[in-house]
Amino acid sequence: MRSSVLVSGGAGYIGSHICLRLAELGYTPVAYDNLSNGHAEFVQWGPLERGDIRDPARLAEVFALHRPCAVIHLAGLIEVGHSTADPALFYDINVGGSIRLLQAAEGAGVRAVVFSSSCAVYGAPQQTSIGEAHPLSPLNPYGRTKLVVEEFLQELARWKGMSSLALRYFNAAGADLTGRIGERHEPETHLIPLAIDAALGRRGPLNIFGADYPTPDGTAIRDYIHVADLADAHVRAVEWLLKTPHAAGTFNAVNLGSGQGASVRELVDAVGRAVGSPVPLREAPRRAGDASQLIADITKAQQLLDWQPSHDLETVVRTAVQWAQASPNPL
Ligand code: UDP
Repeated sequence: MRSSVLVSGGAGYIGSHICLRLAELGYTPVAYDNLSNGHAEFVQWGPLERGDIRDPARLAEVFALHRPCAVIHLAGLIEVGHSTADPALFYDINVGGSIRLLQAAEGAGVRAVVFSSSCAVYGAPQQTSIGEAHPLSPLNPYGRTKLVVEEFLQELARWKGMSSLALRYFNAAGADLTGRIGERHEPETHLIPLAIDAALGRRGPLNIFGADYPTPDGTAIRDYIHVADLADAHVRAVEWLLKTPHAAGTFNAVNLGSGQGASVRELVDAVGRAVGSPVPLREAPRRAGDASQLIADITKAQQLLDWQPSHDLETVVRTAVQWAQASPNPL
């Protein structure tokens, strides 16, 4: 029998790519998702179990039914602006929901947990390339909820012997190389899909949030990592937890990025080339709380997980454009 892995948020953008990668490597991915932001049609490689991470009875039922060997926990709210508008909701879902989910996992005897964390836990960067030892000082409730869950995982490691890896994502981007799944958020706030829609004439001009940063072209620099590379790292993380004897009862945080920076203008130019028409632009003020530069030091992921990003920025943009062109018009 194939081993099951429960993926909370498995109907979402990153979660569905993780389910695909799990299936490719012989696991049965069980997507646990309330479909508040996920998409049932993204669940193609295993069962979809509808449920909320704040619902202990439903969680117990699903754990008993599928008996997963590990949990990959992504379900939660992700938008920074939303977190500043409604911190209580973020704490209720991202913290309260995570505690319920992890309690259910522990009750079902699951010892291995991979958690979807974020580079938002670092706050304002103090150096160019951010390693895991960088001070933790989130700038908003979103980042703080991720840090609180990381701290709770450390409690479970220390007092309950649970093993976990918190994967701190930089900017997930791109789509499945064969076009089966991709990015779809409502409302969309991410740079690449917005730039593509602007170039395709499906939205008005793209706002460049800040052209006065202390960077070579004045726009903010981020580290974009292809979602398939991100997904592959999650499966390696599960296998590291399950197969490494000294992983038992440990907690580790690991950055996931490409290790390379790209500016908003570089991204916009790449999108224009891939679409075949330039992205209409409008310069706008900086977004509150945006850092000028966020680039991952990925040495730890490379060493611990024997992982290497394999898709470059051109592939990120090309797959995102293919996905957008095949998707319904957002207007
Ligand atoms: N950005 C922008 N215009 C947009 C959306 C984003 O200039 O309409 C910039 C944003 O300020 C940041 C980068 O693009 O510097 C990536 O933003 P995104 O929201 O995709 O991810 P974040 O880095 O905020 O997680």
